[in-house]
Amino acid sequence: MADTMQTVPILEVIAHHAGLKSFLLPPVLEAEPGQFVTVWLPGVDEKPFALSGRRPHALEITVKAVGPFTRRLLEARPGDRVGLRGPFGRGFSLTGGAVLVGGGIGNAPLRFLAQRLDEAGLPFSWLAGARQAADLPFEAYLQRDPRVRIFTDDGSAGTAGPVTVGLATALASGPAAVVCGAGPEPMLLALREAARRAGWRAELSFERYMKCGIGLCGQCCLDGSGLRLCVEGPVLDEAAMQGVTEWGLPHRGPSGRRPSAGPPSR
Ligand SMILES: Cc1cc2nc3c(=O)[nH]c(=O)nc-3n(C[C@H](O)[C@H](O)[C@H](O)COP(=O)(O)OP(=O)(O)OC[C@H]3O[C@@H](n4cnc5c(N)ncnc54)[C@H](O)[C@@H]3O)c2cc1C
Repeated sequence: MADTMQTVPILEVIAHHAGLKSFLLPPVLEAEPGQFVTVWLPGVDEKPFALSGRRPHALEITVKAVGPFTRRLLEARPGDRVGLRGPFGRGFSLTGGAVLVGGGIGNAPLRFLAQRLDEAGLPFSWLAGARQAADLPFEAYLQRDPRVRIFTDDGSAGTAGPVTVGLATALASGPAAVVCGAGPEPMLLALREAARRAGWRAELSFERYMKCGIGLCGQCCLDGSGLRLCVEGPVLDEAAMQGVTEWGLPHRGPSGRRPSAGPPSR
């Protein structure tokens, strides 16, 4: 059951760059690309992470250090035990002709999606973006694959410029299919617009502060629609995105309050 905590040893740790690592864990659950798990560090906290891959004998998550939990997790070594719950939420559909567009750590769930598309024999291309090479996971793997184009804001890997630069060419290059995006919200909203204009579908993975993962606490509800991102998301299609009124606003913190918003009404 998704909500049952399983305690597992870390099998392997793969360092990509400073503050960016992948962790291989025993395959104690099955998940689809875009779904997420929660990782519990005893005495620290429990936080959500997308799966970045599935190997025959391991699940993979890829973690960027941004605060107390992720910094502690990046200190973990093979043999250390973590708690794992999941899978949670809805992921990407497997559609041939997809264009994958990732920003920074958003490339993690797209790596799992690319694996699954390959297994299903479905063609795809992948625009992998990041601020700089040091923010890009799996760079060597991405460099080897001719279906991938890398973009970095500072030109330290691939083409200099935002990942959305490559999108117009990709959208014009084949019959209308689906844009699968994961990364910062401004990038996702730009993808949504570009897909709409080109008549493509969009499936976009959004992030909100998540606690329970099972839709009970209401922490990740989206204003205007009431969608619980941990259950009906994190991947949303255009129909699900309709009616959401809080795109582009600062995200709610652990208390449920937005930065700069007043006290919650009673
Ligand atoms: C569905 C989903 C999938 C994710 N997948 C990945 C992934 O594959 N790799 C990865 O590195 N990160 C991923 N994250 C983000 C990851 O959960 C946060 O980086 C982590 O929780 C930060 O905790 P912290 O204590 O290190 O940082 P903090 O200092 O507590 O926070 C730093 C940032 O992370 C956000 N954050 C903190 N706690 C949560 C939470 N419980 N839920 C959502 N956001 C939070 C904060 O709002 C803030 O923007 C994902 C988040 C979600 C919601």
